[in-house]
Amino acid sequence: MANVTRRWFVTCGALLVTAAAADLEAPRAQPAPASAGPPDPKLVEDLVAANRILVDQGVLDGYGHVSARHDRDPNRYLMSRSLAPELVTAADVMEYDLDSNPVDARDRPSYLERFIHGEIYKVRPDVRAIVHNHSPSVIPFGVTGVPLRPLYHMSAFLWEGVPVFDIRRAAGGASDMLVRDSPLGRALAQTLGSRTAALMRGHGAVVVGPSLPHAVFRSVYLEMNAKLQAQAMAQSASVTYLDPEEARRAEASVAGTLGRPWELWKRKALAR
Ligand code: MN
Repeated sequence: MANVTRRWFVTCGALLVTAAAADLEAPRAQPAPASAGPPDPKLVEDLVAANRILVDQGVLDGYGHVSARHDRDPNRYLMSRSLAPELVTAADVMEYDLDSNPVDARDRPSYLERFIHGEIYKVRPDVRAIVHNHSPSVIPFGVTGVPLRPLYHMSAFLWEGVPVFDIRRAAGGASDMLVRDSPLGRALAQTLGSRTAALMRGHGAVVVGPSLPHAVFRSVYLEMNAKLQAQAMAQSASVTYLDPEEARRAEASVAGTLGRPWELWKRKALAR
C-alpha cells in the first residue's frame, strides 16, 4: 500500500517536471489539472476488484469501464487507462478531472467514452461510482421500446424506470454511437436524471451508485432482470412487476445485505 502512495508522489513529481518542459516548448498547451493526491488504497483495490467482478458476472467483456469518485476531492475521479477490464491492476488506475482530462496521462491512452463518467459526476453529487457496459441482455430493451421494469426484489432499484438515451438526438444525426465528448456525456447525464440506470440505444447502459459495491451490484442485477424479463414476456403477455411501494421497500432491504455478495465476488476476483 505504501508503494502505491510512493508511486503516486513520484508520478506527480515527474508530471511537474514534464509540465514545466512542455511549457517551454509549447506555451499554448493546456496544463494538466492538479492532482487531488493519492487516493485511498482500499478504494483503488475495490476499483480493481470491480473491473474483474463485472467480467466474471458477464457484464463487461473486453469493453466497458468502471470508475469511482476520488475520496479526497469530489471534482476528481479514478478509472483505468484504456485496457480490457480483466487486465486492470492498481498501477493502471488514472485520475481525471470532471471534464475528463487526465491528471497524469504520460503516454497512457484513456477510454474514448470517459465523458460518460465526468459528466454524470458533475450533476449527481450522490453518485460515487459509475459503470458503463454493453451487457448483452439489456441491449434489446434499448431498441424495441419495451420498457425495462423491476421483475423481482433484486432489481428493485429500477423502480424509477430506465430511460433510453438515443445518441442520434443528442448528436443531431448519425454518429459512431460513442459518447466521445462532453456534450454527448452531458446529454446522457440529462437522460439519466436522478435514476440508477439508463440504456443507450444500440449500444449498452450506464449504471450509477453511491459506492462501488452498489454500482457493481446494480449492473449485475440490471443484466439479470433484463434476461428474466425477456423470459417472462415470452411466457405470458401478462407479467406482474413490483409496484413502486414494493420496490421501494425491497430496495432498502436488499441494499442492507449488499456486503454479502460483494465480499464473495471480491475475494474470487482478487484471488486470480
Ligand atoms: Mn461503450
